[in-house]
Amino acid sequence: MSKPSYGDSGCIFALATPLAESALALVRLTGSAAEGNGNDGNNLSAIQLFAKIFSRPEKILNASPNSIVHGWIIEPESSASGAMAKKIDEVLVSVYKAPASYTGEDGADISCHGGLAVIKAVTEALKKAGFREALPGEFTFRAFMNGKLDLTRAESVMELVSAKTHKGREQALRRLSGVLEKEISAVKALLVEVLAGTEIYLDYSEDEFMSASGGEESGRLPDRNLAEEAACRLKTLAELWQRERIFAEGVLAVLAGRPNAGKSSLFNYIIREDRSIVTDVPGTTRDWIDAQISVEGIPLRLADTAGLKSSPSNETMPDEAEQIGIQRSIELLGKADLVLYVIDGSKGVASEDREFIIRHNEAASGKPLLVLWNKADLAQMPACNAAGNNADADSEKLNNFIAVSAKTGEGIQSLMRSIAGIFENSSGAAEISAQNSAGPGTQRQKDLIDAALSNVEDALLLADNGEPLELIAPLFRSAVNALGEITGEVSTAEILETMFSRFCVGK
Ligand code: GDP
Repeated sequence: MSKPSYGDSGCIFALATPLAESALALVRLTGSAAEGNGNDGNNLSAIQLFAKIFSRPEKILNASPNSIVHGWIIEPESSASGAMAKKIDEVLVSVYKAPASYTGEDGADISCHGGLAVIKAVTEALKKAGFREALPGEFTFRAFMNGKLDLTRAESVMELVSAKTHKGREQALRRLSGVLEKEISAVKALLVEVLAGTEIYLDYSEDEFMSASGGEESGRLPDRNLAEEAACRLKTLAELWQRERIFAEGVLAVLAGRPNAGKSSLFNYIIREDRSIVTDVPGTTRDWIDAQISVEGIPLRLADTAGLKSSPSNETMPDEAEQIGIQRSIELLGKADLVLYVIDGSKGVASEDREFIIRHNEAASGKPLLVLWNKADLAQMPACNAAGNNADADSEKLNNFIAVSAKTGEGIQSLMRSIAGIFENSSGAAEISAQNSAGPGTQRQKDLIDAALSNVEDALLLADNGEPLELIAPLFRSAVNALGEITGEVSTAEILETMFSRFCVGK
């Protein structure tokens, strides 16, 4: 049997729900009848093939589109009509007919019982009937190939499946409803117009061009204003990526501080308070633990490190495991999008705390840092924000602490607001979400927007320098192609395979 590939149109199936014991499971089928009139199974549509293992074949074959049929899945070799038909499971089948289906082909969703043995028996029966297992993303691939979705919408299907927060879901939904596709198409239309104008002039000689365009002052680039508008809109889209990336991929916030400052207590308090925890992944005790939470809609992975120094009892001779823990904590801090540095308020600002904060600020990595004055229930934060009596130049860098208590919960709300504020400010999220806009949702889309933008900017620069249109036109053509690749009008088989193979099976 040849290796299945995205390009073939055979009948496929996939389990769309997790392979785990549950009340119900959903198995999807799709595939249109191939051209030709042979009787072999390859020429049958998904519904015709499925009829072979369904207790009511006539009913399912004649079912109207978007209707539900009740029946039994039976062993393939047993007679469907006979009383001897060997039943596998009682199911409800939603029937779809081409082209009004997700994939644009005939298809069905089988709702069967969710036991592992049932799922196995149903999928085995489908294989025996002639279905093959779908590749990851193959349903959406077919939807794209059959013109049901452009690539931005296809990608947003996967984004929706993996959205971790309410806002992440909302953004993916905007792309699914075509907001990004519309903007890309509009910018592309501008550039096509510029390109068309440029190519017309290329057909004229220089003299004809001058007289046709009314002389030197009209400039060498026709429709320059349209090219400038396209550049401006592409720039806006590229800037939106900052926010989209945050919602799509989430951010990593790492708790750091001296031993006993209260990092673990804060970690536990925050994840207990947050009702939208998705995962809670324990590392080893010397390593770190992290949990996925939602901070005002921003997906945030909160990590509690083992600490950056050995524990006081072990200060002189840290053991090997502790050393490894410390090393890993430092590495994790390097990857963090936000550092939450915890100070033990009951002890005040130690020299180690001062060093960390000052070193962080001097590193100018641009990585945000929030300093938490913990144990505020025991010791109030001094009015000068813990700078204490050290009224020197460094004190300024020690300002703006947030007073919190892992014991009473004091200040945690305000901490959450500050965290959200950091990412909203860096991405302009608050302002943009009011505009119902959507930027790129994947790195692929962002890279292509960047490529288009740099082509348009280069073209404008060449035009400014009075370079000939022969040099300028290809840049506009490349920009148009890059935008076409975003929506999928211009795509190679290789790009499509790479993209869809990242989807989950059943989507
Ligand atoms: P870590 O080493 O930084 O993770 O510190 P822990 O979270 O283990 O806390 C060290 C000690 O401080 C524990 O006994 C905690 O119960 C206590 N602690 C942590 N946070 C607070 C707080 O906000 N208030 C009070 N009163 N005690 C705290």
